[in-house]
Amino acid sequence: MSPGLVGRSIVGVELHKPKLFSAAAGLNLDDLIGRCIERIWRRGKFTIWQLSGGLTLVVHLKLAGQMVHLDNGGHELGHGGHPVPMWGTPMPHKSSHVVFCLDDGSVLYLTDIRQFARLHLMPQTEVEAFIKQQRIGVEPLTRKFTSAQLAEKLRRRSIPLKTTIMDQSVMGGVGNIYADESLWRARLHPRRPANSLTTQEVTRLHRAIRAVLDYAVREGATFVPHGKAISDRDFPYCHGRAGSPCPRCGTIIQKEWVGGRGTHFCPKCQKPPVAVAVA
Ligand SMILES: [Zn+2]
Repeated sequence: MSPGLVGRSIVGVELHKPKLFSAAAGLNLDDLIGRCIERIWRRGKFTIWQLSGGLTLVVHLKLAGQMVHLDNGGHELGHGGHPVPMWGTPMPHKSSHVVFCLDDGSVLYLTDIRQFARLHLMPQTEVEAFIKQQRIGVEPLTRKFTSAQLAEKLRRRSIPLKTTIMDQSVMGGVGNIYADESLWRARLHPRRPANSLTTQEVTRLHRAIRAVLDYAVREGATFVPHGKAISDRDFPYCHGRAGSPCPRCGTIIQKEWVGGRGTHFCPKCQKPPVAVAVA
């Protein structure tokens, strides 16, 4: 993981959106300067940078954050997180809110159009407690998230399917992009009433959510060396592609508003409900 980052020292940090960074009592942004990145590991959706001198930087890229590491010639050494903007976009992007300058002249950009990503600097001894505190909802990638459990949640709701799977009390971690991707993958229309799904459709949705989030977690929490197999530059397949052909059937992807969120779907693969409910 992150072959280009481990062993490097941080020589400068620019923070353009202060809300993205927080530090434990007595620490601040300047405490990053001069620290060597000794090890990077992950826990759930957190990426944990173990720094020299007993400090740790805990990074959560949330729903749209990404990191791109460029060498001093501007060539990509690796990337991680979400493809927003698409991989290969010139850096810095206007949403590159945090910039790390490293001792070999390489630069790491944290870009987040949604500004939800968070960096927390703390003593290494506080990391375990911090991560425990952050847990929310049912994690769709754990064994607790079963097809039967999902069916039970859907059965009680007549609101649009997309709104339901984004509800944090139904499950954690499904943001707008991943909701669109899961529904496209499962071939289910976002406006289908949640309680209208057959058992077979629930199974398909359950599998799709796991597959999409598994991809998201790997991409979000690991750092992909340039060009390696885990990176999928075509993702997302449906979200954000209004006006482009569906990668599965070639029909033009449409965009509508569902529950106040911009929603992308293929009108052929994802058959609309018989009576269209207005979200
Ligand atoms: Zn299609």
